[in-house]
Amino acid sequence: EQERLKKYKNKEALSKDGKKVEVCGNIGNIRDIESILEYGGQGIGLFRTEFLYMDRDTLPSEKEQFEVYRQVAEKMDGKPVVIRTLDIGGDKELPCLNLPKEMNPFLGYRAIRICLDQPDIFKTQLKAILAASNYGNIKIMYPMVSSVDEVKSANRILWECKKELAKEGKGYSQDLEVGIMVEVPAAVMEADIIAQEVDFFSIGTNDLIQYTIAVDRVNEKVAQMYTPYHPAVLKLIKKTIDSAHQAGIWVGMCGEAAADELLLPFLLGVGLDEFSMSAVSILRIKELLSKWTVEEADEISKRVLKLQSAEKIKKFLLELAR
Ligand code: PEP
Ligand code: MG
Repeated sequence: EQERLKKYKNKEALSKDGKKVEVCGNIGNIRDIESILEYGGQGIGLFRTEFLYMDRDTLPSEKEQFEVYRQVAEKMDGKPVVIRTLDIGGDKELPCLNLPKEMNPFLGYRAIRICLDQPDIFKTQLKAILAASNYGNIKIMYPMVSSVDEVKSANRILWECKKELAKEGKGYSQDLEVGIMVEVPAAVMEADIIAQEVDFFSIGTNDLIQYTIAVDRVNEKVAQMYTPYHPAVLKLIKKTIDSAHQAGIWVGMCGEAAADELLLPFLLGVGLDEFSMSAVSILRIKELLSKWTVEEADEISKRVLKLQSAEKIKKFLLELAR
C-alpha cells in the first residue's frame, strides 16, 4: 500500500481541481521526524513537547529545550514546525511538577492554565522556542485555550520573553507565527475574537470531541459515544474555519480526525487549510485529496451539515467513499 502511494511523496497536496492544502505530520519527539519526511510530510503541524518533561524529577532547562527545538527546525529545513507549548494534565502526568490528583483532570489544572499560573516554567519554554526560531520556520501554539484573555496573557508573556532575549543579545525570528489549539467549545464560540490575537488555529479534535459531547476520551464505557461524526462537532469545525477565514488567518487540524478518510471531503469542503497526522496516514490523505474537487467537497459538506445524527453522517460518508 505505502509502496503504491510513494508517488505522492514529493508532490504537493492538491484537490482534484488543483486547490493547494498542506499535509503535515504530528511528532512527539525528534526521532519521529524521519518518518514524517519519509512519507512526504510538508511540515510538522503538531510537535508535542511533553516528552521533554516526562520521566524525570527536574524541569528541562532553556538550553536543553533549545537544543531539541533547534534540531527539529534544522531537520525540517525551512518547512513549518508548529511547536505546542506544554500540554500536561488530563491523561498526561508529570512527576517533575508534582501535580495533585484531581477528580476531573480533563477539566482541571492543565496545559495553558499551568503555564499562566507558573510563568517561570512557561517563559523557559518560550525563550527556548524563540531562540530556536532562527534555525528554521518555527511557529508557537498554545493548547487548551478557553478564552481570549488567556491568549492575551500568553502573548504578553511571550513579548516579555522577546525583550529578555534581546537584552541577552540572543536573536529570534521576527515573523514567527503564534496560534492556538481550538479544542474547547468556548474557544470555537469566541473564535472570531481570538482570531484577532493570533496568526493561525489548529483544531484539536481529540479533545474537542470529548468537551463537546461531554464524553471522556479514555473511558471505554462511553467509547461508542466518542465520534467525530457527531453533528455538533462538525458544526464547531465549520464555525472555527469560517471565523478564522473571516479574520484572514489559516486553520489546520492536528487531532485524529485530520486523518479520517471518511471525513476528508467534508474537511476539504469547509475549507481546512492544513491537515496534520501521524506519518503513516500522510500519503493516503494526499491521495484522497486528489479525488475530490472543491465544488464536490463543498456540496458534500453542505449535505453533511443538514444530517441530524452521527449515524446518518457516517452512513452518508461511507456511501461516498465507495
Ligand atoms: C487534540 O486534542 O486533538 C490534540 C491533537 O492534542 P492531544 O491529543 O495531545 O490532546
Ligand atoms: Mg488536546
